Amino acid sequence: MLRLAGATLCAAAIIGAAPAPNDPLPAVSIDPAIAALVGAVSAERLKSADDTLVAFGTRNDFSETSSTSTQGVFAARDWIAARFRSIAAATGGRMSVALDTYVQAKTPRTPRAVAESSVIATLQGSEPGSIYVMSSHFDDCHGHCTVGSGVAPGADDNGSGVAAVLEAARVMATTQFRGTIVFACFDGEELGLWGSNHFARAEAARHAHIAAVLNNDIIGNSVGGDGISEPNVIRAFSEGLPVGSSLDRVNLVGSENDSPSRELSRFVAEVVPAYVPDFTVRQIFRADRFLRGGDQESFQAAGYSAAIRFVEAHENFAHQHQDVRVENGMQYGDLPQYIDAAYLARATQANVAALSALALGPAAPVGVQLVTAHLGYDSTLRWQPAADVASYELVWRATDAAQWQYARNVGNVSQSTVPVSKDDFIVGVRSVDANGLRSPAVYPVAVRE
Ligand SMILES: [Zn+2]
Repeated sequence: MLRLAGATLCAAAIIGAAPAPNDPLPAVSIDPAIAALVGAVSAERLKSADDTLVAFGTRNDFSETSSTSTQGVFAARDWIAARFRSIAAATGGRMSVALDTYVQAKTPRTPRAVAESSVIATLQGSEPGSIYVMSSHFDDCHGHCTVGSGVAPGADDNGSGVAAVLEAARVMATTQFRGTIVFACFDGEELGLWGSNHFARAEAARHAHIAAVLNNDIIGNSVGGDGISEPNVIRAFSEGLPVGSSLDRVNLVGSENDSPSRELSRFVAEVVPAYVPDFTVRQIFRADRFLRGGDQESFQAAGYSAAIRFVEAHENFAHQHQDVRVENGMQYGDLPQYIDAAYLARATQANVAALSALALGPAAPVGVQLVTAHLGYDSTLRWQPAADVASYELVWRATDAAQWQYARNVGNVSQSTVPVSKDDFIVGVRSVDANGLRSPAVYPVAVRE
């Protein structure tokens, strides 16, 4: 390393690029309890659950009149509910299981009205207030999404996500979390995000505080249709602007990359590699893939912007929404042999790590403001003090950086200033509890008083 004389170094600091204090982002504090939950995830159980879901033959939304014993979407629903109930039996009444059942009216895409029924397991937290959702959908499609007959295995889309939610519920159910956790298996995703919309709108109507949503949809295959494989990566899609954003305001303050969805994405990308060895979250700053969507959008539309979607790193489109067949020597169909159980286990561990850190750790600060009353050379944030928070940490990054780069613990205060320019950096604040667990960062509202 080149070693400069003191005077030269000083001059370089003054005339160089905008300096930031030497406050590197600290390593994630590993909570042994969370590490144990992550370690309890079983690849064998995940594969077994996925195989069971496939064995219902089809989970098409229009297979609801099939036998309720062995085939069709309601048979699958009943099995999922029974699995949740057996998990809930060990929680001393803290976990409840409910069906969210209703009739979905005919839409321009569908031939008739159809009964829909999601399965919702709720693990009550020790504090009323924040709710953290891990979601999936259990309905599926072959090549014709409005045809209830025929074989639609749905091993990856989305048996993988349902298996992950069931396994996360199993390993997490006996732990007492601060926040309430909802393990959701939605119906009716394929034809219009019906189940998640029905649930999210009802939650909004009762003013529930859903603090984060981790949606899982297509997380079990590790080899793309283009032959590319990254078995140590999962993608997380996050939305840019929350509903109701003022484009003029966003443009003025430069908040286009700091929606609650993006802060949740950053949190997950930071936490997961600390608990899941050799596994990383690739943040995709986009609501979802082109031509497709997912249940996270229902929450965002209902005002819960802190929602992201997990999806495998490389998809194989020959194995999604396809009739099972061999054509020109190529196997089509969403078949169980294309599930990589070890990959699905790591994806599930990523959920368990992030969800546990969210629900066990401190609630994020509220009422966060950036004081912009005067021109200046630093950044001042203030927020409302909260119970059960040991201290607060200001985090900041260059405006063109994807992830938080710097952090400074400022103690248990409700206002603090860091010596970086509010013009040149994005500054947020997060809560830290007595065990060193951190909340997601909160981006401030700029105020002039
Ligand atoms: Zn799906």
